[in-house]
Order: sequence, then structure tokens, then C-alpha cells
Amino acid sequence: MNRARIFTPEHEAFRMEVRRFVEKEVMPFHYEWEEQREFPRELWLRAGELGLLCANVPEEYGGAGADWLYNAIVIEEFGRAGASGPGSAFMVHSEIVAPYILHGPNEAIKREWLPKMVTGEKIGALGMTEPGAGSDLKNIRTRAERRGDEFIINGQKIFISNGWKCDFIVLACKTDPEAGAKGISLILAEAEREGFDKGRKLEKIGLHAADTAELFFADVRVPVTNMVSEENGGFKVMMANLVQERLGQAVRAVVVCESAIEWTVKYTKEREAFGQTIFDFQNTRFTLADLDARIAAARAFTDQCILRMDDGTLDGVTMAQLKLVTMELQGEVLDKCLQLFGGYGYMREYPIARAFVDARLNRIAGGTMEVMKHIIGKDLANRYST
Ligand SMILES: Cc1cc2nc3c(=O)[nH]c(=O)nc-3n(C[C@H](O)[C@H](O)[C@H](O)COP(=O)(O)OP(=O)(O)OC[C@H]3O[C@@H](n4cnc5c(N)ncnc54)[C@H](O)[C@@H]3O)c2cc1C
Repeated sequence: MNRARIFTPEHEAFRMEVRRFVEKEVMPFHYEWEEQREFPRELWLRAGELGLLCANVPEEYGGAGADWLYNAIVIEEFGRAGASGPGSAFMVHSEIVAPYILHGPNEAIKREWLPKMVTGEKIGALGMTEPGAGSDLKNIRTRAERRGDEFIINGQKIFISNGWKCDFIVLACKTDPEAGAKGISLILAEAEREGFDKGRKLEKIGLHAADTAELFFADVRVPVTNMVSEENGGFKVMMANLVQERLGQAVRAVVVCESAIEWTVKYTKEREAFGQTIFDFQNTRFTLADLDARIAAARAFTDQCILRMDDGTLDGVTMAQLKLVTMELQGEVLDKCLQLFGGYGYMREYPIARAFVDARLNRIAGGTMEVMKHIIGKDLANRYST
């Protein structure tokens, strides 16, 4: 698909702004931030100033009221450069947390929090996963018990992106423990509330500049007005919002694949062995040609889904297919490209090495590959019923 049919000249002008920002204000410091295991808060404010956070939030809530293609551009430009720390942190904030508030029923929460999310003044996180419940989310145990005008929250969350830096979290809690999936609500908890303990920053194999934390809640009192979903209606909303989260992952995966091909072609054209460049070995060209063709197919499918996200027709099954295809492809592309770098591909100073470890998460977080196959398998059973 010709991308000019999707992105207008205005989109492309915005893309150039984002690209300049990433080149000048992010990439020169990224390696250092990886060593520090976080990036500075000032970058959030700068990204907010440039309109890079929550671009599609309507103007009445402080956003630019842009279409989702602007969000896609931010994801693409951070992904293209290998700016995986801020790239993934901003994605959690804009693509995962903001939609829960924006599409939820609580007008006061929208007016209070969305404008500050747009400026980067307040950083958001989402807490679904627990030590005992990841893929099987209906089994979460964090409990929010209603007492008068308050919820008393007790429980624990794990692997929470932005968990260390967050100013607030949208928490999946059991409000009716007997009702399984129908007893889950989403409640906003501010980080400064008594009993909200940020535990430790988790040591990951990749995505080093993005923080991930384990969070504890001991008798945390929040007003009932902090409810983000309908009472006991949280599970349905989580399933619906996962579509936007997964699309963000797919958009990033494809652009990372494209960058990996570019890095590898450039490197192998310079590196020589046995009297010729590595690129001129037929094995190299065939490997890259095969990957390039499959990336082009993934790009077409992804762009189609970007358009469907924008017009509101992207469904969960199509999204599961896209996530399955793009994440598996990303894993293969990075592995095969890294191989063509030889030993240098194993060195962190090479972007291919960092992209390889960073990408591994995509086949796990936001729904594993096996969960995607379950979604597609269930649809197949219904589609061709006997
Ligand atoms: C760096 C990082 C950041 C994250 N950020 C967040 C965040 O911000 N917020 C949040 O809430 N969560 C977050 N997560 C959690 C992530 O979404 C979960 O790790 C993921 O959903 C898988 O859950 P789990 O780890 O409990 O694995 P499990 O559910 O224990 O799965 C283990 C294995 O069993 C397989 N499996 C499970 N069920 C089935 C089945 N029915 N059939 C076949 N196979 C199955 C899985 O596919 C997987 O391979 C993050 C995780 C990481 C590592």
C-alpha cells in the first residue's frame, strides 16, 4: 500500500518534527539512560510540549484532537531510531492508560487527568498483571472493598511499565470477588496515597531505559469517584482496550523490522570476508530478500489496521492475527539480521543487539502469542460451525 494514501502532508510534517526530536534530544542520551535504567522526567514535559503524548485526546481534555495516525507516527519514529525506552514508556501512557480514562464514563476524572497526561506533567501506568494472574486476568486477587464513599484497596501488581515513575495507576481490582470476570472494576489510585508502595525497579533483559516495577497496595483508601470503569464492568473494557495496545506493538514491530534491514544492508556492504563483502554472499542477499518481502506484506496488513483503528472498525480477532504475524516476524528478522553482523551483533553498542533483546517482550506482554492463537482459534470454531 502506498503510504501517501494514508498519511497527508500534515502528517508527514509532524513526522519530521518527531524525527528531529528523537535524533537530537533522545538518541544522543539513550545509551546513558539505559545504564541508569530510566530517563529524565524533563523528557516527558518536552514530549508534551511538542504534542507527542496522547495526540488523539480531544481538545476539550487538553489534547490536539488529532486522528490516531498521529499516535502511529510517534510510535514509528521512536521505533525506527531504536529509542525503545521513552518509546515504550510513552506508548504505555498514550496508547494504554489514556484510552481507559478517555473512553470511560467518569467525566470528572477525564477533566482532571487527561490534560496533565497530554502535557507530561502526570505519568500514567496500568496495573492488570499480578504474580498469580497474567494471561488469565479474571483470576486477579487485588481487592477493592467499598466502605461508604471509599474503596479500600489491598493487593499486589507485577511487571508494571512506568510503575516506578508513575504519578497514578489505573488498577484492575476485584470489586465482587464471587463474580469472576464480572466482578472486576478499574480504579485510579494516585501514587502518593498512603499504603501505595512502589517496591523495587525490576531488572529486565532489555528495554533498560524504561522502568518496570512491582507495586504493593496495603489498605489504600481512594474515593469511589476514582472509578474509571462502570462498577464490575472492567473486564470487558480491558479486552476492548487491548486492541489499541496491540496495534501500537504491531506498528512498532514493523518499523523496527524495516530499520533492522537497513542497518544490516549497510553493515554487510562494508564488511568483507573471503575477498568480498558479506552482502555479496548469496546467502546474505537471499536471507534479506526473503525477510524484506515478508516485512512488506506485514506493513500492508498493519497499515490497513491503522486505518481501521482510525475509523473504529478494527476488531479483536483481526488484531490478534496482526499481532501474531508481526511479532513472530519481528523475532525472526532480528535474529537473522543479528546473525549477519557476526560477533558485532552480540555487542550492545550495536542497535541490532539492543533491538533483539528489546523485541523479545512483544511476544509476551499485552497478550502472549498463545493467547493470540486462542482468540483466532475461537473465532475459527464459530466461523465454520458445523
Ligand atoms: C517488561 C514487561 C512489561 C509489562 N508491562 C505491563 C503493564 O504495564 N501492565 C500490566 O498489567 N502487565 C504488564 N506486563 C505483564 C504482561 O502483560 C504479562 O507478563 C503477560 O500477559 C503474560 O502473563 P504472565 O507473565 O503471568 O504469564 P503466564 O500467563 O503465566 O503465561 C506463561 C506461559 O503460559 C502460556 N499460557 C498461558 N495460558 C495459556 C493457555 N490457555 N494456552 C496455552 N498457553 C498458555 C503463555 O502464553 C506463556 O507462554 C508486562 C510484562 C513485562 C515482562
